[in-house]
Amino acid sequence: MKIVKTKNIGFCFGVKRAIKMVHKAAEATGGNVYTIGPIIHNPQMVDLLKEKGVIPVEDVYQVKEGTVVFRTHGIKREEEEYIKGTGLKAIDTTCPFVKRVRKYAKYLKNKGYQVVIVGDSNHPEVKSVLSYLDNDGIVLQEPTILTAKKVGVVSQTTLDKGTFVEIVKELIGGVEELRIYNTICESTQIRQDEAIELSGKVDMMLVVGGKNSSNTAKLYKVVHKVQPKTYHIETVEDLEPGWFRGVSHVGITGGASTPDLIIDTVERRVKNF
Ligand code: SF4
Repeated sequence: MKIVKTKNIGFCFGVKRAIKMVHKAAEATGGNVYTIGPIIHNPQMVDLLKEKGVIPVEDVYQVKEGTVVFRTHGIKREEEEYIKGTGLKAIDTTCPFVKRVRKYAKYLKNKGYQVVIVGDSNHPEVKSVLSYLDNDGIVLQEPTILTAKKVGVVSQTTLDKGTFVEIVKELIGGVEELRIYNTICESTQIRQDEAIELSGKVDMMLVVGGKNSSNTAKLYKVVHKVQPKTYHIETVEDLEPGWFRGVSHVGITGGASTPDLIIDTVERRVKNF
């Protein structure tokens, strides 16, 4: 079995930075570190961190002691303000690429544009960006005609380029002035481009990453378009021997929140098949 991995695989810059900051905080305080939602969308990594005293909580208002971590994809402005008001120690691991989305969205709003965020309205990053606009923004997940004078567009960092272009194209028809900031993060774009290229050269692709990870889901979507025999797995346990019948060349890629250890274990198991 020949196995090829994409060059950019495993943790992205933003996740590496966040994990490092959280580890440092847990070591310094001996635990008692709370993240609002999971710090990253990888259940295995979140479980490992729990052993070190890093606990995800759903509701920011539950935290009454210790250190609070703002996760990589940001929290809502009102949550951030609440934490700052309590005087609890806060660590902001929000990725600089996510802050860039907020920055452009706020700029567009201040300049009088109707802000459109292309992305998933249920994703924490989109909710966070919207909160910085006082919820005065439109979230689009599919091509939609809008009738407005001035529209300013930003994208969720983990969006796929194809979807962004399709939605922007549809907007052109209905608006007088359209201003676009492509805020898909570099890491997401590079990963998708490399995975698409590899998909055309192998018999089968494995996309490794959390089932709740937006960037892994998008990666699966773009890879599956090129290579229909593509599987999204979270861990080695999801692999099925039957998938490998007649397959001699396997490509492996992974989401930005997938630990190297999980990818290495998958690679070793595939070699055994
Ligand atoms: S995927 Fe991009 S935006 Fe998200 S944490 Fe990684 S580098 Fe930052």
